[in-house]
Amino acid sequence: MADQHDQPLDRYREKRDFARTGEPTGDVPTEKKEKKMRDGSEHPVFVVQKHDASRLHYDFRLEIAGVLKSWAIPKGPTMDPDEKRLAVPVEDHPLDYAGFEGVIPQGEYGGGTVMIWDRGTFRNLRSGKDGEGVSLEESYKQGKIEVELRGRKLRGGFVLVRVELGGDSEENWLLMKMHDDAADANRHPTQNENRSVESGRTMEEIVRAEK
Ligand code: MN
Repeated sequence: MADQHDQPLDRYREKRDFARTGEPTGDVPTEKKEKKMRDGSEHPVFVVQKHDASRLHYDFRLEIAGVLKSWAIPKGPTMDPDEKRLAVPVEDHPLDYAGFEGVIPQGEYGGGTVMIWDRGTFRNLRSGKDGEGVSLEESYKQGKIEVELRGRKLRGGFVLVRVELGGDSEENWLLMKMHDDAADANRHPTQNENRSVESGRTMEEIVRAEK
C-alpha cells in the first residue's frame, strides 16, 4: 500500500524472502563494510554485477541519495563510444548490495548467480563549481546522468539517458561511453574480463563454492 510511510527500499524488501536468500536486508551497513566498498575514499560507490538469472544480464548501480539506483543492462556496458546499451531501471538496492556476490536460490526473486564484475567510486560530471551544477538526485529526476567511473574495468566518462522508445509506457534508459582517453572500441570487457573484482572467481567457481 503506497502511503507517506513508504521507505526507499520497500520495493526491494517486498520482492525478497531473507530467510531464503543471502542478499543484504537493507539494514544500515556497518562503517567497516562501507569503508571497504569506497576503497577508503569519500566518493559515492558504483557496482556492476553480472547476474545469470532467467536471462544473463549486468546490473549497473550508482549510489544516489543513500541507495543504489539500479538498471539491468542485457548486453552489459561497453567501452565503445559509438554503441548504446539498453538499461532498464529496476528497484533501488541497499548500499551494501555492492558487496554481494553469491547464488540466489532458484525459485526466489532473481534466482541465479551474482558476480561483483566491477566496483569502484565515481564522480558526478554535472556537479559544476561552487554548487551551480546539477546534483546526482536532480540528474536522476531529469533522466540525464553523467559520471566518471573509477573502477577496475570501467573507467572514464559514461552517460545514462532516459529515452522514449514509443509504444509502451515503460521507462527505458541508454548507457553510453563518452569519448575520452578511456574509450576503446577494441576492448570488450564483458567478453574478455570475466572474473570477479572481489574474489577473482568465475561464475562457475561462484556456483561451485555454494554447493
Ligand atoms: Mn539482476
